[in-house]
Amino acid sequence: MQTDDQTSPAQALDAIVARAHTEFSEIDNAAELDQAKARYLGKSGALTNLLKSLGKLPAEQRPTEGDRINRAKQAVEAVLQARREAIRNQQLQAQLSAEVLDVTLPGRGMGVGSLHPITLTLQRIAALFRSIGFAVATGPEIETDYYNFTALNIPEDHPARAMHDTFYIDDDDPLLLRTHTSPIQIRYMQEHKPPIKIIAPGKVYRVDSDATHSPMFHQFEGLWIDEHVSFADLKGVVSDFLQRFFEREALQVRFRPSFFPFTEPSAETDMGCVFCNGDGCRVCGNSGWLEVGGCGMVHPNVLAHVGIDSERYLGFAFGMGIDRLAMLRYGVNDLRLFFENDLRFLKQFV
Ligand SMILES: [Zn+2]
Repeated sequence: MQTDDQTSPAQALDAIVARAHTEFSEIDNAAELDQAKARYLGKSGALTNLLKSLGKLPAEQRPTEGDRINRAKQAVEAVLQARREAIRNQQLQAQLSAEVLDVTLPGRGMGVGSLHPITLTLQRIAALFRSIGFAVATGPEIETDYYNFTALNIPEDHPARAMHDTFYIDDDDPLLLRTHTSPIQIRYMQEHKPPIKIIAPGKVYRVDSDATHSPMFHQFEGLWIDEHVSFADLKGVVSDFLQRFFEREALQVRFRPSFFPFTEPSAETDMGCVFCNGDGCRVCGNSGWLEVGGCGMVHPNVLAHVGIDSERYLGFAFGMGIDRLAMLRYGVNDLRLFFENDLRFLKQFV
């Protein structure tokens, strides 16, 4: 140990401990603290060197001197340990304030999804028809002019084409967005032999938009082709469906003569108003009746287009708006609500 003559070994040790205390207290990270520790307690640290030099002292001084150095070493280690803990606490505090967590905030639960009311309505319709032996058929939403019109006995220049307000993909192209789900029936009849018993649901498109019309809406059509199918069967199937759909056994259903190019004879389907039970209200225009769709016996020209012998087979078809049925069942007065994706509205149907 190198000490000047005026300093006793004990004072020199006290000075080392004091220096370590000062030095450590100015350090605020663990890596620097380890480097500082090496200067006192490392292989060639100040206190380690003192211990090494004990051998040069006379034998009788060694225990006393050794004891002093060890106490100085313990003092430095204690200061070091205290500083190490202080640094760890500082870091913890910094981390805690950086990651503020307000445990009093309400939890953010995962929202549970559900099916759209139109999908629920479609599923209900499909289940009711499946229960009486109908299959569910689907087809493309982009159709050719042939499947959407010509095959359905709507030739070019037929006024019914103008009534459909069709979205054409391109003026020079015969492709269009289907205006009804009837093309599905044509495609199905081309691929299947009678007896045929299907419903054909899906999205359809027309240039139209107000509280009760949307450019995209949902429709389903039914088709039953067999050797002995009559208009009486049509009335039975449609009436039974509406009574079961609205869960009203006594629901009145009536058929008014009408015209469609693809059916002959044709009829409009009305049902007793589900809001006033036939007494007359704003929804039914005080008539007591609500129009729900069209129907009729499949026109022989349509059967000819798909190669079904109209001398042997007869069939009926009917169509209804799925959105309209959903509006009537749930008492919704604006069709657009179904397509605005407002959760406050949609959640009511879960
Ligand atoms: Zn009414």
